[in-house]
Amino acid sequence: MEINGMTRTCGLIGNPVGHTMSPFLHDRLAGKTNENLVYVPLLVQTGQLKEAVAGAYALNFLGCNVTIPYKTDVLSFLKEIDPLAERIGAVNTLVRIEGGWKGYNTDMPGLYRAMRRDGVVIEGEQVVILGAGGVARAVAMMLAEKGAKRIWILNRTTEKAQAIAGEINRLFDQRPAEALALQDYAALKKEGSFLAIQATNVGMYPDTEKAVIEDADFYSMIHTGYDLIFNPRRTRFMELVNLSGGRAFDGLRMLLYQGVIAFELWTGKDIDDRAADEIYEQMCLL
Ligand code: NAP
Repeated sequence: MEINGMTRTCGLIGNPVGHTMSPFLHDRLAGKTNENLVYVPLLVQTGQLKEAVAGAYALNFLGCNVTIPYKTDVLSFLKEIDPLAERIGAVNTLVRIEGGWKGYNTDMPGLYRAMRRDGVVIEGEQVVILGAGGVARAVAMMLAEKGAKRIWILNRTTEKAQAIAGEINRLFDQRPAEALALQDYAALKKEGSFLAIQATNVGMYPDTEKAVIEDADFYSMIHTGYDLIFNPRRTRFMELVNLSGGRAFDGLRMLLYQGVIAFELWTGKDIDDRAADEIYEQMCLL
């Protein structure tokens, strides 16, 4: 697509933004849908978020993504917030509306769409979440909403896992969530087998040799492991899941679909799974 007087701009607000795959992804999405759109990294310095968000609106940007460290701070500078993003407490997508931005969270719908595409079922499932950070909290919410039977949240700092479990149990009648200290996974043994979602930073580049739990006993309980990390593509956690005979997936498809959903919100166009798969194959080669 040639840049001309009708080209619309989107961008990624964050710090750092130099490593992002989003320009590649949105360039491909624009190409597939014939949208006259460019997507650029927007490095925003500490203390400049308010000006950046207002400036992007004033400059007639079509939309923005927001990444670390601004996903929560940006809530203060929006005209409207989608209820899901409000519940999660984090916004990663800004959509232009009359007089300002409306904030959405496409990470969780993105993870859900990615899991469906990978053939991973949530409904009626027993799930272990490793981690209790911002993303783990949102994942727990999404799992409860999508009908997971029970959810165990395991974290190094047990209080954070307890806080999330308490919140989930207040919101959902069946009280599906329980918290455990990371090292107490043996308590799960009597419960059968699990889908495990790896939502800690452990194993991320450059510490690729590590997994948050190393013990094969834990992995013998896991039929499917879903790591939210996408760099490296094959994490130590995934290796350990496979070694115990389970299926393992990484976070690249989640990254793809959070972008696909943002693009759909900005342009009003639907991206079907075939188009998404083609872009996914290209992202795998990066
Ligand atoms: P966060 O809020 O900083 O939380 C980090 C979590 O990792 C906490 O539970 C923390 O435990 C745990 N942790 C960190 N170092 C640890 C260690 N050495 N041992 C045990 N636990 C440790 O991070 P976040 O924003 O939730 O992100 C979590 C992950 O999601 C990251 O790996 C990120 O790459 C991934 N992610 C993927 C996508 C995607 O599109 N695929 C999108 C967003 C995020 P404590 O609470 O004890 O500190």
